[in-house]
Amino acid sequence: MTYIDPHIHMVSRTTDDYERMRLAGCVAITEPAFWAGYDRSSAQGFYDYFKLLTEFEPRRAAQYGIRHHTWLCINPKEAEDPVFAREVLALIPSFLDRENVLGIGEIGLNKNSRNELTILEEHLQLAATHNLLVLVHTPHLEDKLKGTRLILDAIKNQGSLDPGRVLIDHVEEHTVRHVLDRGYWAGMTLYPDTKCTPQRAADIIEEFHGERLWINSAGDWGHSDPLAVPKCQIELRGRGHTEDLIRKISFDNPVKFLGQSGRFRV
Ligand SMILES: [Zn+2]
Repeated sequence: MTYIDPHIHMVSRTTDDYERMRLAGCVAITEPAFWAGYDRSSAQGFYDYFKLLTEFEPRRAAQYGIRHHTWLCINPKEAEDPVFAREVLALIPSFLDRENVLGIGEIGLNKNSRNELTILEEHLQLAATHNLLVLVHTPHLEDKLKGTRLILDAIKNQGSLDPGRVLIDHVEEHTVRHVLDRGYWAGMTLYPDTKCTPQRAADIIEEFHGERLWINSAGDWGHSDPLAVPKCQIELRGRGHTEDLIRKISFDNPVKFLGQSGRFRV
């Protein structure tokens, strides 16, 4: 069955991964801006990274029949210095007319610090000013719930962002309801053995009937699996779920949310 992986960092993956994803049915991906494997020493490093995300990576994906889209930001891991972060933020508007840019992401919090929160608020303002979709990372700490609440409050306080145009990613059992009840979309990141496994995601899908939910691999530099989405499809099929539900969670929902950008192509 065809699928979309709406969150994967191909900068850290090989052409073999692209080939295997295509064989497994992947037709489109989105790649949020993130940590590049090293801390960048100047804003120019981000300029080069944004060029990679908007020029090189779409061409590489196209060789495997996969449509590549991206999101721009300075990730919270590198946003502790507000002066530096603002230099990067100032670069983003000049990339917004690139045809594979869907919005601002993945923004959020890493250690829930005051400086991270300030830069998160400035990203949200940028998204509101340009009417962009937003993709949010929630921290993988024991205080994920606290971080999620801080982020949801920051979005609400921004005042003009429509929750239906914001996706909160890396939700787990104890945060998904907070996100969905407030009108946002929720993403489940499937990791091979830690955090949300395909089995745990299937449990959450059953509980919430797949409404405003999607699944992704968040494949990156660490132990992660670029085939996590098709593996979750298999898990759902094994539990006897309909092809309609499987298609909804792994294809139709991403199309619906991402389609709001006017830029998403399958
Ligand atoms: Zn990510």
